[in-house]
Amino acid sequence: MTCPTRETLQADVVVVGAGPAGLSCALRLAQLIREYEAGGKKPSPLSPENIYVLEKGNEIGAHSLSGAVLDPRALEELVPGFKAQKAPLETPVRSDAVYFLTPSGQWKLPVNPPFLRNHGNFIISLNKFVKWMGTLAERAGVSLFAGFAGVETLFDGGRVAGVRTDDKGVDRNGRPKPNFQPGYDIHAKVTVFAEGPRGSLTKELIRKLGLDQGCNPQNYSLGVKELWEIPPGRIERGAVIHTAGWPLSSRQFGGGFIYALADTLVAIGLVAGLDAPDPRFDVHHAFQRFKMHPWMKSRLEGGQMIRYGAKAIPEGGYFAIPQTAVDGALIIGDAAGFLNSERLKGIHLAMKSGMIAAEAIFDALSKKDCSAAALGQFERHWRASWVNEELWKARNYRQGFEHGFWLGAADAAAQLVTGGRGLHARRGSRPDYEHMRRWAEFEGKPVTKIRPDGQLTFDKLSDVYHSATRHEEDQPPHLHIADFNICNGRCVTEFGNPCQYFCPAAVYEMEPQPDGSGKRLKINASNCVHCKTCDIADPYQIITWVPPEGGGGPRYDGM
Ligand code: SF4
Repeated sequence: MTCPTRETLQADVVVVGAGPAGLSCALRLAQLIREYEAGGKKPSPLSPENIYVLEKGNEIGAHSLSGAVLDPRALEELVPGFKAQKAPLETPVRSDAVYFLTPSGQWKLPVNPPFLRNHGNFIISLNKFVKWMGTLAERAGVSLFAGFAGVETLFDGGRVAGVRTDDKGVDRNGRPKPNFQPGYDIHAKVTVFAEGPRGSLTKELIRKLGLDQGCNPQNYSLGVKELWEIPPGRIERGAVIHTAGWPLSSRQFGGGFIYALADTLVAIGLVAGLDAPDPRFDVHHAFQRFKMHPWMKSRLEGGQMIRYGAKAIPEGGYFAIPQTAVDGALIIGDAAGFLNSERLKGIHLAMKSGMIAAEAIFDALSKKDCSAAALGQFERHWRASWVNEELWKARNYRQGFEHGFWLGAADAAAQLVTGGRGLHARRGSRPDYEHMRRWAEFEGKPVTKIRPDGQLTFDKLSDVYHSATRHEEDQPPHLHIADFNICNGRCVTEFGNPCQYFCPAAVYEMEPQPDGSGKRLKINASNCVHCKTCDIADPYQIITWVPPEGGGGPRYDGM
């Protein structure tokens, strides 16, 4: 394709990603402008309409997915009186319970661990919550652009100078279609990467500038979730239930959840570490089995699944957070790993990271100095805030589970009495994909398979249908495979093509060849729910997820 003429836009700040972190940053910036101008010190160093927020989903909140139980600490700071402002909080948490499941039974922990107590928190739909935040930002004058993905970071020498948005109307071979529109080059004094877990631009920035030197690698879980309408009398509104044990093995990190948004509406899900040793492990399949447990089944039977989604969760914690400030840019929220895996919460940390980032940006723009040193105020301030305090207490939590559930549980207990230290001062970790063992070790070993019944259990395609995922079919592939020969050769024998299993949306398929020459990898890219698992878990690290044409992907209404 010949190089298109792109329009260049000048922004004060461009935020890539309209999730809780990105919108908190934009909203806090707008508040700071208002406070500054109210003090009579005009002109402000930036204006709200020159804060651009890009969202790759077709609308604000479309790609926002979480359990979700919200700790309102950051919300109280950002939007005092949030209830009066009609924050969409479905219900306060009314009860908490933790169960350990065996294949056919369950026992309830007599006392909940302190980190799983949710008194004072709220069950929310993150999709609705983020939409609401979007309206606040819009009302404050911020410029929101839904359906625009950041596809390339722009540099001016060594300084981040903005982002390029996606070209629209390009066919599968990279040729312009009649509706072709080139993306914009958005130049900004400060670029904020708030792309969520395993952001494609963030990943590249960290690699290019070596921002993770001395850090633990980021470790992830994959969470799969369904929203169910259930008959009355099965659960009480406001109930929060977590499970450990079955169907995960004792070598795995993770567990299940049930959050009752209403007496007849529950969010259920299973979260499992992407460091599973068995290349055949399939989180979506394990989740379907989870629902077949008699204890779960008795809650769901007669109900109806109405929504599905999946997303990676950054769980590396304190020691995995990269350098967050560079010349001209900051990394915030899940993109940087601001998430407490012990408490199973990240929304409040993402929001607070966005707010602190906004304060650093405002100061930097006031001083006309957006260097890494000036923007480093963000790093210094989050480390001096309750964000640091909370993450420090859980600093070794996820890594403690590297050798299985029981050792992890013992370490977690030790961490409780040692302020987060546990059995080691600093636990290291390896990237998740390095834990995957060779196919030969598992070949012939039984793997439980279920046949989905379409009532309680579903295959991946039925679930994808319930994620309302849509992509323009005729567009360049957004899953870049560096070498298909590895997929169709080495990976077949070495790992048995684990992408078929770990992708929760049936994107990867090993298709038999008509001439009997074996199977070849087929990619059903339009099923992709943007969870990023393949980019993380592929054992050869040859899959790169890049944003498809803006506006494509899931539509997580009510999730
Ligand atoms: Fe997730 Fe990758 Fe599958 Fe898309 S292709 S749904 S990002 S694992």
